[in-house]
Amino acid sequence: MKAAYDEAKDCTRCALHQTRTTVVFGAGNADAALMFVGEAPGANEDRMGLPFVGQAGKLLDKLLSEIGLERTDVFIANVLKCRPPGNRDPQPREIESCQDYLRRQVDLIEPTVICTLGNFSTKLLRGDPTGISRLHGRDEVRVIGSRAVRLYPLYHPAAALYTPSMLETLRADFTRLPALLELGPPEQPPAAESLPAPEELDPAEAGLEAGGEPAPGSSSGEPGGTSEPDTPPVTVPDQPAAQLGLF
Ligand code: URA
Repeated sequence: MKAAYDEAKDCTRCALHQTRTTVVFGAGNADAALMFVGEAPGANEDRMGLPFVGQAGKLLDKLLSEIGLERTDVFIANVLKCRPPGNRDPQPREIESCQDYLRRQVDLIEPTVICTLGNFSTKLLRGDPTGISRLHGRDEVRVIGSRAVRLYPLYHPAAALYTPSMLETLRADFTRLPALLELGPPEQPPAAESLPAPEELDPAEAGLEAGGEPAPGSSSGEPGGTSEPDTPPVTVPDQPAAQLGLF
């Protein structure tokens, strides 16, 4: 993890390094069973170098405390490690450049459950454009990198801050987390299946294209089908970022 951090902290893989103050690598328990993946650092995070330190982070802390957990029990990361100027949406090239760090974090932490927060992390880790309003609260087993995890999409806390009904849904989805963790890690794929898939997925095809993305948690414009909870493991194709031979 330290090696990944050392690499990320001086990263120049995309243009965001020109405008960021600090790389927000992620923080928490590197041995956590529960991992959260948000979208990208905002102004506070960029200044402090830590994820979710603003209002959305306070809400995340509150929701965690309501299920008997605190930040030090979990690991929190983002799709992008650097702040997009003006908090604009992450762009496909940025996501592609950055995704290797996230995949390495998953590989190193070996979480049982990954909560994707909002559309960007959900679409990236599912390799599919289905939006969060159709998927929130539905756990499924997915292979990410070399690891089968219970993926559990949730509304983004920043979106829930301003929409009471979304907050109640987020809170209700959170209450299922202890039971999900209790299940333990899903069956792991045989070693051969952990090799990279030959095909590459274009981020634009996964619905991650800039401009067309609803705000986190938005219910508009979400094509694609639903997926059933606890469906058999699906291997998410590794996407065309540098792979470092890890996946
Ligand atoms: N929103 C995110 O998605 N990530 C952060 O770190 C802060 C706010």
